[in-house]
Amino acid sequence: MSGLALALMAAACTTTETAEMAASPDNAVDAAARRAWAERCTDFDEWDKPGPPFRIYGDTYYVGTCGIAAILVVGRAEGDVVIDTGTENGAEIVLANIRTLGFDPRNVRRVFMSHEHFDHVGGMARFLAATGATVTASAPAAAVLRTGHVSTDDPQAGSGHPPFSPVEDDALEVLDPEWRAITAAGHEFKPIASPGHTLGATSWTWQECEGGECKRIVYVDSMNPISDDTYRFSDHPALLAAFRKGIADIAALDCDIVLAPHPSAAKMRDRLLGEAPLVDRGGCRAYAAAVAERLDRRLARERGDD
Ligand SMILES: [Zn+2]
Repeated sequence: MSGLALALMAAACTTTETAEMAASPDNAVDAAARRAWAERCTDFDEWDKPGPPFRIYGDTYYVGTCGIAAILVVGRAEGDVVIDTGTENGAEIVLANIRTLGFDPRNVRRVFMSHEHFDHVGGMARFLAATGATVTASAPAAAVLRTGHVSTDDPQAGSGHPPFSPVEDDALEVLDPEWRAITAAGHEFKPIASPGHTLGATSWTWQECEGGECKRIVYVDSMNPISDDTYRFSDHPALLAAFRKGIADIAALDCDIVLAPHPSAAKMRDRLLGEAPLVDRGGCRAYAAAVAERLDRRLARERGDD
């Protein structure tokens, strides 16, 4: 079934029926929607290219674009959660995807985020204005959301990131310094400090159940050790130590389904096409190992070893 057919089917139902239809573990509808995304989108696709939404597991849905992830966790009476909102234009696609699934964006009460770069949070202010939700971010990420400018301490500070619309103070909450779990949308979301790609990068894990079977979903930050032309990770031992700890924490997680802000970084398209398993107990370990290898290569280059 194409994304269009799915949208037409959704349009034919009342809002309530659509929401129930989307929420029920209907494997045929889910499989068709997943295939529609994989057919419409390519690996590491354009950031603002619309892709159809689909259910991942339980009450967790993919509502991002072809190139940038946004995750919806539906909580019914308790309100919904969204993680990441894409670019300024991407936020409109995320909002449209939530509506296509039959859910009301105004039911989103809380927004979480991966890292403070414009491709993942440039649309935050727009998304919060459309939904009335608040965003909870780590202290370094909150500082960037407040200004709309990449931090001067960011490894990509000199990369020419465009500014984005800042988030108002009253829509912004800072994560508690202990990084305790947050209960929202009927789920417990555990934030995991994942600095390295940015200072405030955060991964998230929560549990989803369907048909009595529960899975841990992990939304791992990019953790990509790239920078502008002058930054050297080896000049920042504290960040480097925190980067290493974050990688170890991801590798050690109880992890059934791994997702990433750039979906192909966690092989999402392969998993939707059945070329890699969606439920993959080793997914986080493999992701962490790949990041560690990139970081080692990067540090070797900084030492002039290759
Ligand atoms: Zn980034």
